[in-house]
Amino acid sequence: MRIIDHYIGSSAVASGARMGDVFDPNSGQVQAQVRLGGAAELDRAVALAKAAQPAWAATNPQRRARVMFKFKELVEREIDDLARILSSEHGKVLADSRGDIQRGLEVIEFCCGAPHLLKGEFSHGAGPGIDVWAHRLPVGIGAGITPFNFPAMIPLWMAGVALVTGNAFILKPSERDPSLPVRLGELFVEAGLPKDILHVVHGDKEMVDAILDHPDIAAVSFVGSSDVAHYISSRGWANGKRVQAMGGAKNHAVVMPDADLDAVVRDLAGAAFGSAGERCMALPVVVPVGDATAEALRAKLLPAIAALRLGTSTDPDADYGPVVTAAHRARIEHYIQMGVDEGAELVVDGRGFSLQGHEGGFFIGPSLFDHVKPHMQSYQEEIFGPVLQIVRAADFEEALRLPSEHQYGNGVALFTRNGHAAREFAARVNVGMVGINVPIPVPVAYHSFGGWKRSAFGDIGQHGMEGVQFWTKRKTMTGRWPDGGVGDSGSAFVIPTMG
Ligand code: NAD
Repeated sequence: MRIIDHYIGSSAVASGARMGDVFDPNSGQVQAQVRLGGAAELDRAVALAKAAQPAWAATNPQRRARVMFKFKELVEREIDDLARILSSEHGKVLADSRGDIQRGLEVIEFCCGAPHLLKGEFSHGAGPGIDVWAHRLPVGIGAGITPFNFPAMIPLWMAGVALVTGNAFILKPSERDPSLPVRLGELFVEAGLPKDILHVVHGDKEMVDAILDHPDIAAVSFVGSSDVAHYISSRGWANGKRVQAMGGAKNHAVVMPDADLDAVVRDLAGAAFGSAGERCMALPVVVPVGDATAEALRAKLLPAIAALRLGTSTDPDADYGPVVTAAHRARIEHYIQMGVDEGAELVVDGRGFSLQGHEGGFFIGPSLFDHVKPHMQSYQEEIFGPVLQIVRAADFEEALRLPSEHQYGNGVALFTRNGHAAREFAARVNVGMVGINVPIPVPVAYHSFGGWKRSAFGDIGQHGMEGVQFWTKRKTMTGRWPDGGVGDSGSAFVIPTMG
């Protein structure tokens, strides 16, 4: 059996006896075991990071950026192999895995501009003979704890910005698909990153708690489900760390009566069922405005869903592949049954799907619910599977209220041809990332990513300038060179002003 070791000090480290199973979602078989570490492995990584980080911080940003340029080149060269590793543990189809890697590389491209991003601020003559200037320094050692669903993009959101701003970085990837993050770590070192600056440690709650309690880790970035995000932010903050913790989601697509329904159905099919619905920016809820819109949309959705093609993650014709584990599939099926029991109409039932020749795989067909009501638990909670729920709204105001009042506030999309309605919706909806005729409004790398309400704890987003802010601390200097030398002005007993 293949063993996935920790990657500490640029070497595979076979420490720790506890193991976790890593499945092949296409077959349902265990394909490898990953070491589940804790304080011992983390201490080793932190000690190396602590010794190496000052020299990395003192390396000029242009040189640090060159590592990013080189890393991008290496990843582009290997992208097909990397996508195969990713798909083999996650289950998403190869084209989608390439997209996952590419979105991460776009953050690396942003990081290539580090000299510009770190230039700082200067105010000449803020007072008589006084200048004020500020610049940003690395926090020291940062850690990233990442979910299973984007094993390339999300580690790169964090690692890219943390490293290029001069930090050492410790990644704790999901234990369900840990191989690709290790390979990305190796490629950073091949690209010229000093060997003790990046470490990949594996584990579950035990390793996460060791990270949250380690006195030498200054900042923790987390992406995963909301209860864990809440726990991580509370414990991290209690220990005096800087924490950003992105959580779960339940994104709505609001469809106005004037929308181009054929385009909406094309967008919805991809955004609700792509990657088997295992995306925090998926669209698992659609809100048609008015019954006529609902009926027309439902009529067009049915053939689109019937045409969806499930296949293995290596099948080039598959729209989506298996979900990540049998336990996750059972959780999705549990929510489908809950929807039925709560009285929603199950129009298409994806349970019981089996792919010929891959009967053990973690496949689940697409499901469609209609007449879902806001009080239902199956609507209020995140399902994270290929399940689309229609919640009918009578008018624009009711449609606006649904995502605004939902416990999650990650993303939302509005489909319309009416500019005024779009502008009004974008201004008033209580959600962090808004798409106008764009189904998955993940901001580009030089903007920042992050939702509202239970979709994010802490108020600094991932990547873009907020990412730079998260991984650095500001130092502000005020200096004066009075005419005639320093120290000729006597004591001041009132607060100095620039008056
Ligand atoms: P998860 O919360 O189960 O795991 C995320 C990480 O936390 C993993 O590294 C895991 O090892 C660790 N972890 C799990 N349970 C823990 C516990 N009890 N204590 C401490 N650490 C723990 O999430 P997942 O299933 O891997 O990923 C799917 C979830 O992530 C969904 O809820 C999805 O919406 C969310 N997500 C959010 C975003 C976002 O940006 N808002 C992006 C991607 C995924």
